[in-house]
Amino acid sequence: MAEDVFDLVIIGAGPTGMFGGFYAGLRGMKFKIIDSMEALGGQVSAMYPEKDIFDVAGFPRVSGKRLVADLEEQLTRFKPEVILGEKVAKVNRRMDNVFELTTDKGGKHFCKAIVLALGMGSFTPKKHPNPELAPYEGKGVQYGVLSMDPFKGKRTLVVGGGDSALDWALMLEPICDKVTLIHRRDEFRAHEASVKKLKASKVDIKLWYELKTVRGKDKVQEAVIYENHTMAEEALPVDFVVLNFGFQASLTFLKDWGLTLEKNKIPVNQKMETNVPGIYAAGDIVTHPGKLDLIATGFAEGATAVNFAKTYINPNEKAEPGHSSNLKW
Ligand SMILES: Cc1cc2nc3c(=O)[nH]c(=O)nc-3n(C[C@H](O)[C@H](O)[C@H](O)COP(=O)(O)OP(=O)(O)OC[C@H]3O[C@@H](n4cnc5c(N)ncnc54)[C@H](O)[C@@H]3O)c2cc1C
Repeated sequence: MAEDVFDLVIIGAGPTGMFGGFYAGLRGMKFKIIDSMEALGGQVSAMYPEKDIFDVAGFPRVSGKRLVADLEEQLTRFKPEVILGEKVAKVNRRMDNVFELTTDKGGKHFCKAIVLALGMGSFTPKKHPNPELAPYEGKGVQYGVLSMDPFKGKRTLVVGGGDSALDWALMLEPICDKVTLIHRRDEFRAHEASVKKLKASKVDIKLWYELKTVRGKDKVQEAVIYENHTMAEEALPVDFVVLNFGFQASLTFLKDWGLTLEKNKIPVNQKMETNVPGIYAAGDIVTHPGKLDLIATGFAEGATAVNFAKTYINPNEKAEPGHSSNLKW
């Protein structure tokens, strides 16, 4: 069967890739979007779908989930091919200038230009070192909160002292029967305002405590914690343990794709061009003078990358997309 060469492949379906995809559709490009996660939305879906965001233009307040749903509506207007759960492992430019992409599931994709909207890379949460926790993942042990509903009326242990840990503790406290937060030190790495709120809340805070293991038949029923000076252990009856140890992402594979990296970011110029002709990049993955890692800046960079990719594919085209308000839909 003849291979199907698309105009554009966007790798990464976070806010940057999703909004960039909208522009690819607007510019009449045949495009697909690929993400290693099983859901659209990148960091927003993986780390804070239930939280409210206040700095997206035109939305005084929008939950992460709502923003991703609206981006999906905007993106899918053009019926792109959306491939989820596949990580792009290899990018190869052929003699005929077509890019050949290979995913970890063996999928092959062909295109004339690429936009990398990789965020922090395909990220995975840093796991607790005790392997006894692994069988309980999805059965009470969670590295983040995707939905608040299962927590209603339950007892939850939150582990960690950074922004995510405090945010989840504060959001879960009003709906859970009880929330306990343990932190291995006596200082939090979270915003001062969150620390203040936490101290004023009903969350049971235990400092100098760490998680040893969890126990339970089929699901978590108990967490074993210990005071890290005395090593004295305590068993807490809980239904959920939410761990917040941060995320790890590897980006070294980008060097194999021929891309220059600067401190784990891809340097780009004002057109969002990388050092490889035909490969553009946008969002949290890029660096340039004045770069800010925000949804708002990712939107603008995604639009810029896609519109200049259009001129790469067809040099007779203008980068300027015109005004969408002139369209009749
Ligand atoms: C807790 C938290 C709260 C935040 N709050 C705000 C806020 O209030 N306002 C704000 O503006 N910003 C906020 N941010 C930052 C914001 O989420 C990011 O700036 C934004 O998500 C970046 O979007 P992106 O699309 O560039 O990258 P990401 O959202 O990281 O998406 C990148 C996607 O690329 C995929 N990917 C990576 N490598 C591959 C590969 N090889 N193959 C296939 N897929 C791949 C990843 O799976 C991921 O889905 C917050 C971040 C966090 C963690």
